[in-house]
Amino acid sequence: MIKRSLTILGATGSIGLSTLDVIRRHPDRFSLFALTAGTRAEEMATLCREFRPAVAVMADAAAAARLQELLKEVPETRVLSGEAGLCEVASSAGSDTVMAAIVGAAGLAPTLAAVRAGKRVLLANKEALVMSGQLFMDAVDRCGAELLPIDSEHNAIFQCMPPDQVRDPRAAGITRILLTASGGPFREYAAEDLRAVTPAQACAHPNWSMGQKISVDSATLMNKGLELIEACWLFNTTPEHIQVHVHPESIIHSMVEYADGSVLAQLGSPDMRTPIANGLAWPERIEAGVAALDLFAIGRFHFERPDVQRFPCLRLAAEAFAAGGTAPAVLNAANEIAVAAFLDGQLCFTDIPVIIERTLAATEVVSAGSFEVIFAKDSEARRRAGEQISLLAV
Ligand code: NAD
Ligand code: MG
Repeated sequence: MIKRSLTILGATGSIGLSTLDVIRRHPDRFSLFALTAGTRAEEMATLCREFRPAVAVMADAAAAARLQELLKEVPETRVLSGEAGLCEVASSAGSDTVMAAIVGAAGLAPTLAAVRAGKRVLLANKEALVMSGQLFMDAVDRCGAELLPIDSEHNAIFQCMPPDQVRDPRAAGITRILLTASGGPFREYAAEDLRAVTPAQACAHPNWSMGQKISVDSATLMNKGLELIEACWLFNTTPEHIQVHVHPESIIHSMVEYADGSVLAQLGSPDMRTPIANGLAWPERIEAGVAALDLFAIGRFHFERPDVQRFPCLRLAAEAFAAGGTAPAVLNAANEIAVAAFLDGQLCFTDIPVIIERTLAATEVVSAGSFEVIFAKDSEARRRAGEQISLLAV
């Protein structure tokens, strides 16, 4: 058994806390090197008092100062701040494994730092891969990083593939990936009723408890759009070989179809501690605190095709992937701005795809030649999405 030393990027979030819950159960297997968070110094201080990491990083400088103050009685924890601090702990020799669980584009630089340092990278932060696709995967290969998917669907697909052929599905005899989706809280809503849904309704996911941004993404189906792109890069395939299946029970986390007609699935309770434990211990299996699956209680599984008329985000994501270059980075940035505006009460739910589509139309696609190009397009798309929101408001 290898004892792993961990850095958790986004420790105060839903994935971060689930990761801490798994490692708490296995002190013999995991030690903690660093924890990072955005602004919540009090929550970070509580985690530091329990886990005593060598380093704690707050992205926000004022929050770092507050944390330093709160941690007077924890002298072994060094406090750093800003993106430089995030990248420092992500690449430090102090850890061999990095959980990438910051939400959104803010996670790209530190996740990339971990990749470039050749770590085992547990990827929850799908936006980082969606934005930078080929460049990200090239960095994984060049730097000898070990990339393991934590997103439940991608972890399920990974578990249903021969481990040495994850990036060569054709050679493995794989014909299709069946990507499952819960359909979100508005799956049965009529198109005309979607306009008035509130942030509170959008964040109340029927099966999963998650951060606000991914909850809204699940409600618009943009989460499935981002996951379609994520799957293309992780498994070196194209959208024609991936079929989204709405499966409202969220028990089958995805499936892989083989040339001989076999379809392999990974099932489990909808609890992120399963894919997290799988990534942490891979190729071993460890206890994760997850309730055993009771199929008698569930009784039935259902499957539907996704409705891209009511939920255009899935179509927009497929189109952005097909357009290539910087288009997925623009899609992601516009989505982040639109979702933030919706959560802030400035935009109605059905305007989220409108803003994304207009931002994509207004932003020139260029070849994604470097990470600098990606970051510049991300900023440009954020500005343009903001303009589109103000145009809509008048
Ligand atoms: P969350 O909002 O609960 O947590 C986000 C974390 O990132 C927090 O620790 C926060 O402090 C930190 N953060 C936010 N902005 C930051 C910034 N600018 N700089 C540095 N740190 C920042 O989000 P979550 O639900 O845990 O999701 C995290 C990631 O995992 C997302 O990319 C999401 O898509 C992915 N994911 C989540 C789930 C889930 O069940 N929650 C499932 C699959 C994938
Ligand atoms: Mg998912």
